[in-house]
Amino acid sequence: MCGIVGYIGTKRSYPILMKGLHRLEYRGYDSAGCALISDEDNNLHVYKAKGKVSDLEATANEKDTTGTLGIAHTRWATHGIPSEVNAHPHISESGNITLVHNGIIENYVTLREQLKKRGFTFHSETDTEVLVQLIEYTQNKLGCGLGNAVRNALRLVVGAYAIAVIDKRHPDQLVAARKSSPLAVGVVEDNSEFFLASDASPIVEYTNQIVYLKDEEVAIIQRNHPLKVYNLKGTEADTEVKEVDLDLSMLDHEGYPHFMLKEIFDQPNVLKDCMRGRVVESPYSHAPQVILSAVTNNRRQLLRARRIVIVSCGTSWHAGLIGKQLIEHFCRIPVEVAYASEFRYSEPVIEHDDVIIPISQSGETADTLAAIQLAKQQGALVYGIVNGVGSSIARESDTGTYIHVGPEIGVASTKAFTGQVTVLTMLALALGMIKGTVEQDEYEATIRELQLIPTKIEKILLQNDKIKNLASIFTYAKNFLYLGRGYNYPVALEGALKLKEISYIHAEGYPAAEMKHGPIALIDEEMPVVFLTNHHRRYQKVISNLQEVISRHGRILAIIEEGDEQVKNMVTDFIEVPSTLSCLAPLLSVIPLQLLSYHIAVARGLNVDQPRNLAKSVTVE
Ligand code: GLU
Repeated sequence: MCGIVGYIGTKRSYPILMKGLHRLEYRGYDSAGCALISDEDNNLHVYKAKGKVSDLEATANEKDTTGTLGIAHTRWATHGIPSEVNAHPHISESGNITLVHNGIIENYVTLREQLKKRGFTFHSETDTEVLVQLIEYTQNKLGCGLGNAVRNALRLVVGAYAIAVIDKRHPDQLVAARKSSPLAVGVVEDNSEFFLASDASPIVEYTNQIVYLKDEEVAIIQRNHPLKVYNLKGTEADTEVKEVDLDLSMLDHEGYPHFMLKEIFDQPNVLKDCMRGRVVESPYSHAPQVILSAVTNNRRQLLRARRIVIVSCGTSWHAGLIGKQLIEHFCRIPVEVAYASEFRYSEPVIEHDDVIIPISQSGETADTLAAIQLAKQQGALVYGIVNGVGSSIARESDTGTYIHVGPEIGVASTKAFTGQVTVLTMLALALGMIKGTVEQDEYEATIRELQLIPTKIEKILLQNDKIKNLASIFTYAKNFLYLGRGYNYPVALEGALKLKEISYIHAEGYPAAEMKHGPIALIDEEMPVVFLTNHHRRYQKVISNLQEVISRHGRILAIIEEGDEQVKNMVTDFIEVPSTLSCLAPLLSVIPLQLLSYHIAVARGLNVDQPRNLAKSVTVE
């Protein structure tokens, strides 16, 4: 949450900063701001606006935006309402220093009171403002440069931060630091320019050489000097430059009206990318097989596992619930699925032979990161499943498998979910095979079917217009119920979450049979019930649950297996998905639910890529 961009170099910084903020807008869009050191008057110019980056541009474009040093921010408010005064950058008492921040300063109240006693005044309600005043106070007290002031000030801070700081008296320097929130520095070979950002997307078109700062590191970025990184004690740290390849076309709509729709339609291709080199044919028997290097390389520890704990949040948690069923079925290892935010504070019992699987799209989810740090301290093996290459969770994990679905920009996750489920399927198959808990026939049949999933998703996507029409029927609804059993139960949860996130309609996902124990009371002619009847091993049981809703006049939209005449005769509205194995059903049944929520939100005139109150990459607790 919150996007940070910074630039120092030979070019005008303002256009680079604005382009970068647009790329990071998925991280927050409550307000935006920038600080520039002008070429015209050598002064600091700070511009802010409530709302989106375009609102900031409308304010700043007409003003002095010259200069080759600047920082910028797009905010997702934690402390203080979205307003111009709470927008970043925040400025120090003297007006010399300014900074942008992503994270939460937990001891800001104490620090603010102490600074007030020393004559500092505060204008905003944010926790962030305390940082800039503390840096100025430290600089005055120690009589040191900006880098040392930042470093010493941060030693007094409790909480999470990624910051970019400039001082108008030092127009050749940009200082950055991080703890728990991500920050990347793009470097060019001759040190003539540096790029700073919360993730690599604003940087990659200028350089693919990226240094990811580690926790409690301070970067001193000096024009025409090599990058220097120190820990909070002042010892110089090694920097590792990573080559980051990002497909820039993934960062554009490519003709789609929204990123969400583009990413839904990306799924057939990106799932092929996800399986590439992993689902292969045996060179000897030509039988299909799954090769995951993380499984091969950690064979001994994985075979020793008596328990697996999946830790995740939101959509990734739903993928985890599917992963539990897959791993228990193919590997016969008990799996628990925990919300990372609960797990980390629950005094979890973790044994050294447990395997912890964090799942996170961004790889930066604060709670998931904290959960794995806890697990590592207890000696468990951490097997990360993330999309963000080089992200904090990827780096902190002992091993893992990237989902490789490309950048996901739409705030409501779509392709990351199917990517996570695909990786969990491959993991369950690969581990089941080395454990001997899956029969060769079932192993091969499942892999062959998995290979067909992208084509089957394409077939569902052809029904986009039909789903759009169905969506228009349901825009009246204030509540929705999503019901499914077995592998489709987490899909019901995910369908309900998608609808809530972008259409602001209250929706609940429930196991279809559990509905009798409460939610059935909600059903009447007004209540849309999305019923997942497809691919269940106990099909007749699902049909009985469907009958129970029909008897109470629920307004059903059924997701059915192609050619299911029985359900077609029972309901008016249905969407057909191609047949597949029940363990792979989620990869198909979630697609119409993604499209349904998308079209309902669009029909209600809502901005699906930037839903109210939400942001992607939840880097705060
Ligand atoms: N705590 C800061 C604010 O509310 C930054 C929030 C964030 O990084 O999400 O302004």
